[in-house]
Amino acid sequence: MGGHVVGGAFGFLCRQLGLAADYLYAVEVVTVDKSGRASSVVATREKSDPNRELWWAHTGGGGGNFGVVTRYWFRSADASGDDPTSLLPRAPESITTFRAEWNWSDIDQSSFLRLLRNHGTWSERNSDVDSPNASLWTLLLVHRRQLGKIIIRGLSTDSAAAERQINNYLATLSAGVGAVQNKEVARMSWLEFALNPFPDLFAMPPGGVSTKVKDAMLRKPLTDRQIAIAYDYMTRTDYDVMGGAFGFATFGGRVNAVAPDATASPQRHSIFDAACNTGWIDPREEEKNLKWVSAFYRDLFAETGGVPVPGDRYDGTLINHPDTDVTDTTWNTSGVPWYTLYYQGNYPRLQQIKARWDPKNVFRHALSIRTDEPRRA
Ligand SMILES: Cc1cc2nc3c(=O)[nH]c(=O)nc-3n(C[C@H](O)[C@H](O)[C@H](O)COP(=O)(O)OP(=O)(O)OC[C@H]3O[C@@H](n4cnc5c(N)ncnc54)[C@H](O)[C@@H]3O)c2cc1C
Repeated sequence: MGGHVVGGAFGFLCRQLGLAADYLYAVEVVTVDKSGRASSVVATREKSDPNRELWWAHTGGGGGNFGVVTRYWFRSADASGDDPTSLLPRAPESITTFRAEWNWSDIDQSSFLRLLRNHGTWSERNSDVDSPNASLWTLLLVHRRQLGKIIIRGLSTDSAAAERQINNYLATLSAGVGAVQNKEVARMSWLEFALNPFPDLFAMPPGGVSTKVKDAMLRKPLTDRQIAIAYDYMTRTDYDVMGGAFGFATFGGRVNAVAPDATASPQRHSIFDAACNTGWIDPREEEKNLKWVSAFYRDLFAETGGVPVPGDRYDGTLINHPDTDVTDTTWNTSGVPWYTLYYQGNYPRLQQIKARWDPKNVFRHALSIRTDEPRRA
């Protein structure tokens, strides 16, 4: 929880419930004053709280910026009283998960285009806060052709209609592409799911795996040009990158019902969190993996200087998926500074909070909030 909530924190139920940070009521933080003395402070979202700005900074300002969070309190925005059973949304009655796949051997460039178009159109039409499909969250993971599969996973919290909802979704994605293979659907309690979500996705090999994730928030589906770039990077053989993949997590719904400045998480217009990513076990494979993933992302966003500049099509990137490449003008030629990609118009306010609560810049890293940069978004 330590670094997760303070970065906004989306999850499997975000389309229905919003971000974890949208439920943050208060934080206890150890901060360091200008004489170098550490002390603990509580900051709440109460309008009358003199420390309210410090609470706001923890609703998306990112870890390692203001102090060490030692406690989080959560309450829904409209919660009242102190009965714990009514302070947060009820857990879903059940969770229905699904997984299905297409074999790359059945996919050519035109069916790939069709699949990503189908997926984009569905997401664009089903990401409003009142969409009946806000209860459906999905992750499309296009692995490189050398791995063999394109996998769709997801879950529904709609106990009565989950199977129909999932079947309709898979039929929409498959139209003109070819039927999905190896479909698996399972129903379980929310607790069973939460204790071990999507085991085949998150299982780690012994010793772990190194990864590079390059994130982009999309307000619109990819263009045909971008889908052609993705096809190229998924299928080209001049890179030998087994762990390369292109993922899309559905977003929107309740997340987008909150104003960009109501919390420090400004990404409130997106329909997907898309990520170019790769993973490797042998350190000798690092260089080629980084080359592939960085070139893929740069070419995907070539029209906006190699990064998803906030605007009509993109909503920047998430600080919970930090990528120092955006500070490097080799990869970010947009002229838009890294902090605008992560924080948009909220950065000047975060700088003021940083100056007040961490005047000696004790908490810092490659993408931390800095007060020595111009106060502009
Ligand atoms: C497999 C995987 C899946 C993920 N899935 C999601 C997802 O679905 N949704 C999402 O939003 N994010 C996701 N993330 C990203 C995740 O939210 C971030 O990596 C987050 O920063 C992790 O928090 P942590 O507590 O592990 O912090 P760390 O990785 O340990 O640290 C991250 C930053 O937070 C700071 N920090 C840590 N603890 C504290 C604290 N107590 N007080 C102040 N600062 C602190 C650190 O100094 C550092 O700067 C995923 C990451 C991984 C590896």
